[in-house]
Amino acid sequence: MPLTDKHGRNITDLRVSITDRCNYRCVYCRSGEDQIPFSELPIETYVRLIRVFVSLGVEKVRITGGEPLLRKEIIPLVEELAAMTTTNTAKPLDVAITTNGHLLAKLAQPLKHAGLSRITVSMDAVDRNKFAQITRVANGYDAVVAGIRAAKHAGLEPVKVNAVVLRGFNEDQIVPFARFACDEGVIVRFIEFMPLEEDRIWAPNTVVGFNEMLDILNSFRPLVPLPATTPGETAMRYTFASISSGDGVGEVGIIAPVSRAFCGACSRVRLTSDGKIRTCLFSQSDHDLYAVLQRGGTDADLANFIEKTIQKKEARHHIGEPGFLKPSRSMVHIGG
Ligand code: SAM
Repeated sequence: MPLTDKHGRNITDLRVSITDRCNYRCVYCRSGEDQIPFSELPIETYVRLIRVFVSLGVEKVRITGGEPLLRKEIIPLVEELAAMTTTNTAKPLDVAITTNGHLLAKLAQPLKHAGLSRITVSMDAVDRNKFAQITRVANGYDAVVAGIRAAKHAGLEPVKVNAVVLRGFNEDQIVPFARFACDEGVIVRFIEFMPLEEDRIWAPNTVVGFNEMLDILNSFRPLVPLPATTPGETAMRYTFASISSGDGVGEVGIIAPVSRAFCGACSRVRLTSDGKIRTCLFSQSDHDLYAVLQRGGTDADLANFIEKTIQKKEARHHIGEPGFLKPSRSMVHIGG
């Protein structure tokens, strides 16, 4: 039986943060000051918890953070996950990572070898100086581009590059990113800025919305829509009229959680680095799965707790509505 919430959505996608630490301090995510991190669990503990989620019907696991490549046990973790099989379809578990790419150049090949299915690299500018301003790290740009190329070389294709677009910071990077998608043969996806930052900089007018991004991309070259690859696909996909799309070459996407919310198709649940379940990015509270384990809970107890928690999954977020409350944790402490 699939794991289903009370709104009838199948929960097949688990995002797991394995650390709150990050080597970047992106302006739209972090405050620039180090905050006290939430704790991290031993890697074997994440493996045990993930195994229970998979036994209940999770089919995709995305490892995130913080910056997941900072955990030195990342390779054995991927190996353990890649050896798991989905419960309902008896297929190999789909194992993905979201990373800022800073440490990827050396790790891409070992990750592929360990069984990683897919990788997404977050990158918010293709201009070196702007990249340094956004990340507040001096020499990151070359390391990240080297990481993207290493991932392609290792066969982790199609590599996806996610760029959060923030008015006044990087909307001028949209067209250069479209060129980057064509030149580097990667899928670039533009994401609307959400109120998930440590600071308080989000306001409706900081969001560069779906239509505006579409107009900017169309001004580069006319866009041609592509069909969704999966039923719960969050990105609207396009290629450019003058480019033949293949292996993600010249493909761009827009993920618009603010102006075109896709909560009705949400298949996701998250596990924080300290072992708490979050049923929505915008939840006001979390559910302490690790506490069940600490009390000596069996896998059946963990499964029972997960199933009950999934029933509390919110119908939708309320970004931009009167009375909207920021979530109880920011993105870096949830796991994006
Ligand atoms: N360090 C890894 C990385 O950079 O991809 C993983 C963690 S990071 C928190 C995950 C994703 O969340 C990144 O793609 C980042 O750009 C995105 N993100 C962070 N804050 C965001 C916000 N306020 N709105 C939209 N996306 C955000």
